[in-house]
Amino acid sequence: MLGPVLLAASRSAAIRRIVSGAPVTRPMVDRFVAGERLAESMAAVRGLTSHGLEVTLDHLGEDVTDRSEALRSRDAYLALTEALAGEGLGARAEMSVKLSAFGQALPGGHDVALAHVTPVVEAAAAAGTTVTLDMEDHTTVDSTLAILGELRTRFPQTGAVVQSYLFRTEDDCRALAGEGSRVRLVKGAYNEPASVAHQDKREVDRAFVRCLKILMSGDGYPMVGSHDPRMVAIAQDLGHRLGRKKDEYEFQMLYGIRPAEQERLVAEGHRMRVYVPYGTDWYGYFMRRLAERPANLAFFLRSLAGRG
Ligand SMILES: Cc1cc2nc3c(=O)[nH]c(=O)nc-3n(C[C@H](O)[C@H](O)[C@H](O)COP(=O)(O)OP(=O)(O)OC[C@H]3O[C@@H](n4cnc5c(N)ncnc54)[C@H](O)[C@@H]3O)c2cc1C
Repeated sequence: MLGPVLLAASRSAAIRRIVSGAPVTRPMVDRFVAGERLAESMAAVRGLTSHGLEVTLDHLGEDVTDRSEALRSRDAYLALTEALAGEGLGARAEMSVKLSAFGQALPGGHDVALAHVTPVVEAAAAAGTTVTLDMEDHTTVDSTLAILGELRTRFPQTGAVVQSYLFRTEDDCRALAGEGSRVRLVKGAYNEPASVAHQDKREVDRAFVRCLKILMSGDGYPMVGSHDPRMVAIAQDLGHRLGRKKDEYEFQMLYGIRPAEQERLVAEGHRMRVYVPYGTDWYGYFMRRLAERPANLAFFLRSLAGRG
C-alpha cells in the first residue's frame, strides 16, 4: 500500500531534501549503491568479477531538466567506458543507461537523447562491451524502443528492458525476441496507472512468466532481471526444457540484494550479472528500492525515528 506513496515521493524535491539530509539514510543507501565516485564503483566491479559475477554499471541520474545535465551524463558514461576498458573485462562489464538522464524529457527529447547516448554506445563497442537501455515510466516506452531500434542498426548488441507489469509488454517481447536481441525482463519499478499496467502483484508475476516463455522460446538472448526465487526457478526450468545452454541466457540482480543467491547461481554454472549503481544522484533509485520491499521501508522508518 505504501509502495505508490513512496514512488510518488521519489519524484518530490521536498521529500528528497529531508531523506537525503537525514544521517540515518547513508548506511541504507550504501547497501544499494556502490559509492558516489567512479573509483568506488570500480572497486565493486573488481570484487564482484573476482567471484565470477558479471556486472552492468549505472551512473545514477534521471529526469534531467536541461541540456548541460544531459551532457554531464554523457561525459560521466564516457569516463566510465574508459575506466571499464582499463579493467579489461570486455562484455563481462557492460553499462545500463536511463535515457531521461540523456535529455529524453526535454523539448525535442527523442533526438537529444539519441544524440547524447550514441557516442556512449560507440565508445562501449570500441571498448569491447555494450550498453543496455533501462526502461522508465510508460510514457517513455515508445521513444526508448525507437531509440533502441536506431542504435541497433549499427550496434545490434545494444540491450533492451521490458517490464511485465505493462499490458503492452507481451507484444514488445514478441517484437524483440529475434536473433541477436538482448532483452532484460523485469517486473517494473514505477508507479503506473491501471489503464496501462497490472496493479495486482500476482498478475504482474503471471505476466512475467508469459513474457519469459516468449523470450526463452525466441532466438534472442534473455536477461532475467528478478530476485524472485520463483521466477529464477521457472527460468531455469524453461531454459532446460527449451534446450538453452546455461550461457544462452543470464540472470541479473541488483547490487546488495540477495548476494548469496547471486553467488549460488554462479556456482551452478549460470551467468549472473549484477546491476551496480554509483554516483551522487541516488535518491530516485533508493526510493524505488524501498518501495519494492516493505521490510526495507520499515527498517528505514525505524532508523529515522531513532529506534533502529
Ligand atoms: C538487473 C535489474 C535491472 C532492472 N532494471 C529495471 C528497469 O530498467 N526498469 C524498471 O522499471 N525496473 C527495473 N528493475 C527493477 C524491477 O522492475 C523490480 O522492481 C525489482 O527487480 C523487484 O522485483 P523482483 O522481480 O525482484 O520481485 P519481487 O516480487 O519484488 O521480489 C521478490 C523477492 O526478491 C527480494 N527483493 C526484491 N526487491 C528487493 C529489495 N528492494 N530489497 C531487498 N530484497 C528485495 C525479496 O526477497 C522479495 O521477496 C531492475 C531489476 C533488476 C534486478
